[in-house]
Amino acid sequence: MTEKMKNIDLPDGTTIPVLGQGTWQMGDQEKRRTLEIESLRTGIELGMTLIDTAEMYGDGNSERLVGEAIAPYKREDLFLVSKVYPWNAGRDKMEASCRRTLERLNTDYLDLYLLHWPGSVPLEETIECFETLMAKGLIRRWGVSNFDLAHMKSLLDIKGGSHVSTVQNLYHLGSRGVEFDLMPWLMEKHIPLMAYCPLAQAGRLRAALVDSLEVQAIALKRNVTPYQILLAFVLTKPGVLAIPKASTPDHVKENRQAADIHLSEKELAILDMAFPKPDRAVPLDIE
Ligand code: NAP
Repeated sequence: MTEKMKNIDLPDGTTIPVLGQGTWQMGDQEKRRTLEIESLRTGIELGMTLIDTAEMYGDGNSERLVGEAIAPYKREDLFLVSKVYPWNAGRDKMEASCRRTLERLNTDYLDLYLLHWPGSVPLEETIECFETLMAKGLIRRWGVSNFDLAHMKSLLDIKGGSHVSTVQNLYHLGSRGVEFDLMPWLMEKHIPLMAYCPLAQAGRLRAALVDSLEVQAIALKRNVTPYQILLAFVLTKPGVLAIPKASTPDHVKENRQAADIHLSEKELAILDMAFPKPDRAVPLDIE
């Protein structure tokens, strides 16, 4: 039986599900479209109502697909996240980018708008643009992505920077650098970490992750798949939500089930031994 989906709070008190849906590389192939839409809808119906996309993904294809997938649902039941390219994150371009995103999604606001990665537009200007979009009602809140601790600290030093709602960074069992310094700092500030690539792209980002004896043994004992253990691992961490991408309804259902897996202290200790977190600061992983 599926448990009620766990939630997590944003700094403004809004409650969102710990498990959302990623959409990178979705919407690019006509022959996959029906299945991809069915997958996203399966996720929404299972409570994975947070959907992550970006203007970058397929040059708008992912946003268009999401727009089509969400059409039957009430807008207020969804939490839509998109991202702006760093070079569009300034006074002359951000509003137009955001309006194009809204048009592709066929909606009139974003729940969360993220700076996709740090760029050359000064952060002061990007924050000012985000705040203007909020004042105009085009976005409800904003955040950042691919920011390490130093970036986050400099963000919070800027006027308005403390309004940041989340940071979306790569985080999976085989890439635990964020646990060393960023996650404790985020916890202290009550800023959630949105984990991308929580499945290490089905293991492709780290050889021997899915095939590891430790992950396999825990999965076997629980009668689940190694991928579900990878997802359960990040969701076990406090202050973390995850946005796996799945383009088949079966994968979506398995991911939803993984949100109900509570790894024990013993299982976590086994995973820690096999894939230790670093004992010093390491550069932020992006793949
Ligand atoms: P991911 O979610 O770690 O892995 C996706 C892969 O896992 C796909 O090949 C998918 O296959 C497979 N998969 C999904 N569920 C599975 C299951 N239950 N069992 C086995 N395989 C499963 O990688 P990602 O898509 O790169 O990252 C997730 C999302 O994060 C992206 O889609 C995107 O929205 C976001 N992202 C953000 C950034 C950033 O810079 N901010 C960067 C990368 C990603 P199928 O498609 O066949 O189901």
